[in-house]
Amino acid sequence: MAPRRFTSSNHIPPEDVKCTDTVIIGNGPSALFLSYLLHGNIPTYDSVTHGPHPDPALHTKLSRYGNRPLFDAIESMRASEALTEHFHAATYMGYSNQALPLNVLLDTLVQPGADTEIGGAKSRLKWSSDERRRIGHVVLGSAKEAGGQWSEDPASTGTSWDIEALSYAEMLSLPGYSFREHYRRKHGKAMPHLNRPTRREVADYYGAYPRAAGISSEVFSSVYAHRVNRTQSGFSVKVYRKPTSSRPQCEYTIHCKHLVLATGILTNVIPPPPIFLPLLNPANNTLYQQQRVKTLPLLVVGSGFTAADVIINAPPNQKIIHIFKWNTTRPSPLKGCHSQAYPEYASIYRRMKQSAADSTSPASLTTPSNYEGFPNAQVIAVSGDGRVIRILTADGDILERTIDTLNYCVGRRGSLEYLSAELRKAVGVLDAGWVSADTLRRRAEADLEVTKNVWVVGSLTGDSLVRYAFGGCAYAAGRIMADQEIPEDELTMQEATTTSRRGSGCVVS
Ligand SMILES: Cc1cc2nc3c(=O)[nH]c(=O)nc-3n(C[C@H](O)[C@H](O)[C@H](O)COP(=O)(O)OP(=O)(O)OC[C@H]3O[C@@H](n4cnc5c(N)ncnc54)[C@H](O)[C@@H]3O)c2cc1C
Repeated sequence: MAPRRFTSSNHIPPEDVKCTDTVIIGNGPSALFLSYLLHGNIPTYDSVTHGPHPDPALHTKLSRYGNRPLFDAIESMRASEALTEHFHAATYMGYSNQALPLNVLLDTLVQPGADTEIGGAKSRLKWSSDERRRIGHVVLGSAKEAGGQWSEDPASTGTSWDIEALSYAEMLSLPGYSFREHYRRKHGKAMPHLNRPTRREVADYYGAYPRAAGISSEVFSSVYAHRVNRTQSGFSVKVYRKPTSSRPQCEYTIHCKHLVLATGILTNVIPPPPIFLPLLNPANNTLYQQQRVKTLPLLVVGSGFTAADVIINAPPNQKIIHIFKWNTTRPSPLKGCHSQAYPEYASIYRRMKQSAADSTSPASLTTPSNYEGFPNAQVIAVSGDGRVIRILTADGDILERTIDTLNYCVGRRGSLEYLSAELRKAVGVLDAGWVSADTLRRRAEADLEVTKNVWVVGSLTGDSLVRYAFGGCAYAAGRIMADQEIPEDELTMQEATTTSRRGSGCVVS
């Protein structure tokens, strides 16, 4: 069969078999940024516009590369290590020691001192567009709009579009079209400092990003990639597009040479264990709707941000029964929330702490409140109609409570089930393919190319914040471009035509 060139259009003929150089699975922030790079947008260290980087050691190391693309400086994990090995000693820079050094590197180049100079950080990257380096690719994401988990309906987890992000807008911003520019475009005025946008605003920004950053022709939403197999010449990816009112469903196959996994670790909410089944029974829920007594408490299980978001999102007089893990050596992530920056989370953390301190009785018995906290408690029985629960407290007491509904918020996980069993094994994921922050971490630390021609980026690497997604993307883009590299003189000769050749970079099926 003759090779076909991948058509850069949002309307892929369903019967087609297509080819492209790189398939990126997932359409979250990391996939969007990687697509921006693969469009030929090239970062270079810039010590002129705003002066050298405030870390003199980093400045010295990067200056050796002159005007060469940053990709050259991070061409291997070893090269990246050489740039970052002093980070732990540069205490005055406050570099994260949790994130991958490569991700910390890009973060500090995009926004040096972002934690202390919120809104004022000056990027030390200069961007140029080089059509010759453009790589044919597609971004395939199941979310309805570009933005990955940001564009998915938060109602499914009991939270809302109006919950504020943890990060300030700058830290959710992607190179190529910033949150600040988007805010100005939408509101006709400058974005205020210390702006924590709502989930709706973040989704709106990422939804607008592809068009504004000039990558929309390669970004496909509402599509699932599955049955991804290694072939003799690369990979085959089956793509299923959900039907909508204006478009029929369709399925097609894409062949590619490089594969990037950007599907995140947050797609699937961890379901409640079987004991909660009566609470999930639709028949009981219907009964609820009819007889619902508004004064009954909401049962929230979980100790992290989603549980906190559910509590924040509840109506003001809603009673809450909160069951959470409490471990002084591994405290809730809410502990890190400063009461000025995150008053809502800090207030919930205080209530949890108060409940934990009150060793023999929950907080509500000493302080009348709508909040009743049960640290390290367990639900040991649920009545058949799902109304009454029995709680075993950490002190060994058994209490009964009548409740309204359950919000089970103990976390989320991603899945690599869309890869063939052989590929899953090659990337180091077994069985059902569930992935959390730890699953691929050791592999990612060794190399983000987790098996030949397969990269992981974004939260799959174990760094879930958007600001720490850039390093992995830049590394993958540099390696993919290097795989296509043609000599400089040939590049010059072919300047006018290379784009189409690379776009096809195509593998015959
Ligand atoms: C409630 C909540 C609040 C958060 N707040 C912040 C914050 O304030 N700041 C911050 O920096 N980070 C925050 N995060 C972390 C979040 O991980 C990042 O913001 C970011 O979304 C990670 O981007 P990503 O590119 O790794 O992928 P995601 O955004 O996770 O997107 C991956 C997408 O790929 C899709 N996908 C999965 N499998 C397939 C498949 N087979 N085919 C096609 N598509 C597929 C998924 O459904 C998903 O839509 C928050 C996370 C949650 C859950």
